[in-house]
Formats: sequence, structure tokens, C-alpha cells
Amino acid sequence: MNKSLKSHPMPLRDPAERIHTFEEVALGYDAETAISEADRCLHCKNHPCTEGCPVNVAIPEFLSLTAAGKFEEAYEAIARTSCLPAVCGRVCPQERQCEMYCTRNKTGDPVAIGRVERFVADVHAGIGRKAEQIPKNGKRVAVVGSGPAGLACAGDLAGLGYDVTVFEALHAAGGVLVYGIPEFRLPKRIVARETEDLLARGVTIKTNVLVGRTVSLEELREEYDAVFLGTGAGLPNFMGIKGENACGVFSANEYLTRINLMKAYEEDSETPVFRGRKVAVIGGGNVAMDAARCARRLGAEVTIVYRRSREELPARREEVVHAEEEGIGFLFLTAPVEILTDGGDNVTGLSCVGMELGEPDASGRRRPEPKAGSEIKIEADCVIMALGTSPNPMAGRTKGIATKPRGEIIADEAGKTSLAGVFAGGDAVTGSATVIRAMGAGKRAAAAIDEYIKTRSENG
Ligand code: FAD
Ligand code: SF4
Repeated sequence: MNKSLKSHPMPLRDPAERIHTFEEVALGYDAETAISEADRCLHCKNHPCTEGCPVNVAIPEFLSLTAAGKFEEAYEAIARTSCLPAVCGRVCPQERQCEMYCTRNKTGDPVAIGRVERFVADVHAGIGRKAEQIPKNGKRVAVVGSGPAGLACAGDLAGLGYDVTVFEALHAAGGVLVYGIPEFRLPKRIVARETEDLLARGVTIKTNVLVGRTVSLEELREEYDAVFLGTGAGLPNFMGIKGENACGVFSANEYLTRINLMKAYEEDSETPVFRGRKVAVIGGGNVAMDAARCARRLGAEVTIVYRRSREELPARREEVVHAEEEGIGFLFLTAPVEILTDGGDNVTGLSCVGMELGEPDASGRRRPEPKAGSEIKIEADCVIMALGTSPNPMAGRTKGIATKPRGEIIADEAGKTSLAGVFAGGDAVTGSATVIRAMGAGKRAAAAIDEYIKTRSENG
């Protein structure tokens, strides 16, 4: 066993190089490093790491197979419960999930589970095995939305013999994985590879279909034995301050979609994005870091404006460090009160107030409160709002589906909604969360759909 208390660092592209490219920042372990890191696992009897994983990947098993150099077997151990290992190895917040529970934390660094997962998934991709063909059981399920929730649900149902069709509003499958998370964190060829695996297993994906417009949910209910709604939470929130409609103000969702999905960073892109010279990004989550790092790569001087302090930043620590290395500035304890314009409706800056932290609010974080006499002005020709999102409104407009006031679909643990035969999961139910949580919800719903259809068939 490797007794080192330190984990192997992830090799990274140099910051000076990466601010000029959308190529992936993290370069991945080589075989020797992956084996050595996997060999740090203590094989704890109660495997707390697996308990900390929302889809309960058999972590000690895949680590011991990796340590033995059995990479394909290690991949199969992960793939038993996760249909997106190469994605999760790259973007899961492991430091708050499996790695947070790793026994190794008591004396040093946790095992770098995500980095090893990424390695075995990438090795598997290079092998290109043929997908197993499962005989069809004659039942049909419609999945609405091709994000991690929809893909996980579709994958599990296909594995049980269902004829699954995924309907996606955009022209590419993957949800936030293709339109939100930038190429330099999650290359789109990786997402395409994982969705191609699903196609090879007999799942049909129909893009450019907006359920609720192109086809109604009622029509899907008539045509299919069950429907899963994995429509996500892509509706951006705004502050409601003066100047928000000015030219040069974007929601992070629109900005990132133009860059990631429409490839606006390519010189010959037919859908270019406004390239601000001085960009202010409002917010402190992963979405804010992604938008800021994209703007930096498009040549801007970038400042992230966040109303709480550094300690409260909800973004992954790694993303914050990478943003800082790339020269992105942070203005903490600062909140915009107005977007300033040149009178001709173009953004010229932000008027902000300083904040101080008061008592903890409902989220448990200390509530920011404005400080008297602390007004400042920031120069900017582009402002990106990364203030969180709400569920897409399709379900709220559909008769019979109960939703919460902010639009989240009401569903039980198994994904059952108020409408018979309609299940839901992922961000559409929880509000914005994580890839692996959405996948977990999709998988639980797949099991519940299987039970629902079998019970209905048995009862004639
Ligand atoms: P989504 O991924 O949103 O997919 C929903 C899909 O449904 C979309 O493709 C949408 O077009 C489609 N759709 C919606 N309505 C309809 C309709 N009516 N008809 C047809 N199709 C429809 N999580 C992490 O774990 N790690 C990260 O590093 C991370 N970074 C993030 C960065 C950004 C910029 C964003 C926005 C989110 C990030 N997240 C991250 C969160 C994570 O991506 C989401 O929690 C996850 O993608 C939710 O999955 P989902 O399947 O529920 O929804
Ligand atoms: Fe290995 Fe850490 Fe899991 Fe223990 S908790 S089995 S050391 S990965």
C-alpha cells in the first residue's frame, strides 16, 4: 500500500497558456500515478466514501482494481451505478461528497477518488467496447430533457429492456453538460462519447423538440407507458435593479450557452458573443466562476462581485483557485444597486454598496447587510448575472402537475409526481444542484417507472 499522506496533484495546463485557450485545464493522471493514488486506499470495512456518493459507486472496489492495473474492470465497477464516469470524474464536487468522508482525511489528504475515476473512464473510452444489446420488453418510456437526470433515467430503463425516447429542446444532448459547463472543464467530446454509449444501447434521442410546444405532455402520456421529466432549472434569476435591460447585460446562462453550445469563442463562429473589455460577473457559485473564466479567455479584464466574503463562496474551491491563477479579480462584500449606462443604453459600469455580514439566514450563512456610506462605482462594459436559476417553466404550464411557488415540480423520493405515470427528477425538482444528484434522481425514477409499468401490466 502507498502510505503517503499526500494525494498526487492533478497536472494542470499553465495559467499563462490557459487564458488564451478553451482546451481542458486539468490534464489527467497517467497510469503510474493513477495506480499509486488508488493504492492509497485503506479498504475500510464500512466504506464511508461509498455512503458519501449520491449514487453509491463501489469506490474501494474500483480503487483496488485500478491499483492492480485492471482498468477496464475498474471502469465496469463504476459503470454498475454511474452512467457518466468521465463526466463525474471531472465535475463532481468530490470534496463535499465521497472524498469528504474518506478515512484518509484523519491523517492527511483523502484518496483523490475523482481523479482516479476520470483516469479509468478515459482509458475505457480509448478501448471502445461494443455496448451490450438488451432484448426489448415491448414497453415505451418518454424522457423529457437530456441532462444528467434524463440520461441516467434513460440508461437504466434501456438496461431493463424499455424502448426509451429522449426529447431535448436544444440541438445537442447533455443539458448543462453541453450548454453550461465550459469546454476547458468538461470537453464536449466527453459528453458526446457518453451519450453515444446510450445510443449504442438502443436509446433514441430526438433533439430540437420542445415538449409543451412541439409536442404536448398529454400526447406523450398517450403514446408512452410512462414519462420522466428531467427538464432542469435553466431559467435565470435577475436582481431587478435599474439598468438590467441595458446592452451588455447577460444572464450567465445565455452567455455560457453562446460560448459553449454555439462555440462563440471560435473565430469563424456564426453566433458570436459580445466581447467585453471590462467584465463584471455578479455571484459566487460555479456558474459565476465559469462565466468569469470564459470572459477572461475572450480577452477581458474580469472582476467577480460577491455580496458575502470569500469563506461563503459556494463555488468549488478548486474553481476559485483556478480563477485567481487566471488573473480574475474578486470584490467581496459588495452588491450592485444599479447598472450604469451611457444614456444610450450601453453599460458603462456598476454602482455598488459595501456589505457586512449579520446573523445567519435560512441557508445557515451569515446574511449580508448594506453598510451605510459605502457606495462605490466599478467600470464595466459587460455585466454577467450569475445569481442562480429557477426550474424551466414547462411543467408549471401543464395541467395536473403540482409545482412549488418557484416552479419546482413536486415529486416524492422515487420521482412520482401528482400526475399518474409522470415522474420527475434532477434540478427540475430540487432547483439547481449537482450532476451526480441529478443522476441519482434519474436512476431512482427509472426503478420507480419499472415498478409502475410492471404493476399496471399485472393488473391488466
Ligand atoms: P439539466 O442539465 O439542466 O438538463 C435539462 C435539459 O432539459 C436541458 O437540456 C434542457 O434544454 C431540457 N429541457 C428543458 N425543458 C424542456 C422541454 N420542455 N422539452 C424538452 N427539453 C427540455 N454540477 C456539478 O456537479 N459540478 C459542476 O462543476 C457544476 N457546474 C455547473 C456549471 C454551470 C454553468 C451550471 C449552470 C451548472 C453546474 N452544475 C454543476 C450543476 C449541474 O450541471 C446540474 O445540477 C445538472 O446538470 C442538473 O441536471 P438535470 O438533468 O436535472 O438538468
Ligand atoms: Fe478507501 Fe477512503 Fe473509501 Fe476508506 S474511505 S475505502 S480509504 S477511499
